[in-house]
Amino acid sequence: MSYQEIIEELFTSVKQEKNIGSLATFIPELGNVDPGKFGIHLTQVDGLSYGIGDHEERFSIQSIIKVPSLALAYKLMGESLWTRLGYEPSGNPFNSLVQLENDHGIPKNPLINSGALVISDVLISKLNNPHEDFLEFVRKAAGNPSISYSPRIAESEKSASYRNTALCNFIKSFGNIRNNPEEVLDFYFNQCSIELSCRELSEAFFFLANYGLAPPDNDRMMTVSQVKRINAIMQTCGFYDESGEFAFKVGLPGKSGVGGGIVAIHPGQYSIAVWSPILNKKGNSYRGVKFLEQFTTRTELSIF
Ligand code: GLN
Repeated sequence: MSYQEIIEELFTSVKQEKNIGSLATFIPELGNVDPGKFGIHLTQVDGLSYGIGDHEERFSIQSIIKVPSLALAYKLMGESLWTRLGYEPSGNPFNSLVQLENDHGIPKNPLINSGALVISDVLISKLNNPHEDFLEFVRKAAGNPSISYSPRIAESEKSASYRNTALCNFIKSFGNIRNNPEEVLDFYFNQCSIELSCRELSEAFFFLANYGLAPPDNDRMMTVSQVKRINAIMQTCGFYDESGEFAFKVGLPGKSGVGGGIVAIHPGQYSIAVWSPILNKKGNSYRGVKFLEQFTTRTELSIF
């Protein structure tokens, strides 16, 4: 059976089942999304691509952007980045404060909020025009000049940012945020506000499936070794305190966001994005996890 036939069949069966969980209402704008949306898009490294459902509709990718942010910071800083944060799974929710006190403001990894705030701080220090230069990096990775921030979503997140503000100030108190916390938070909210369709998202992560080369001209985004390490961090930390379960069920490196998106990659094979906004208790898309679990089971292809 082809990928296309398997996607079609699983899309239909998952859609018929009950969707269990809730929208991410802690960001007011995300509470206004149609909970029934469901899209999937797969982009193969050989150039073939296939999508179904709401795969051309843009949605808020939220924490999925933490991977491109990490990629750019790692490219700019090299191994010295790891003096500012770790690469171990946290075993805690994405917006948790608890470990930071014991760890003296060094976040466990870059794919939880505390880590992404430190990455944002690094990017502000390293880039001449952080907002513009970061967008340029994402556009280049995706081969898509139309990607932009959404002021509407960034503002909405800012209006209820009590936890992220606490995190940023707390890390600052340990000296691991070097810039003004307000500036760091503003940049972080803008990153999280980016909206992409499943097609665009799978294209933006293509370089991680393609050993660092991005479409359309095979531009090298980063070294093969750096890509390996980013994929390893997605595998161990991409789903917060559900990362072990995602590895167990799906067996691919990936990243989720509270907008209901999940992107996963199979090195050398494909990048796949799924969107369904109803989240499980850990903040990961209920149908997204379900679909991907069945997809790697049916195709009998995972990295393991
Ligand atoms: N913008 C969200 C936040 O900071 C991102 C969380 C997520 O997608 N897990 O809370």
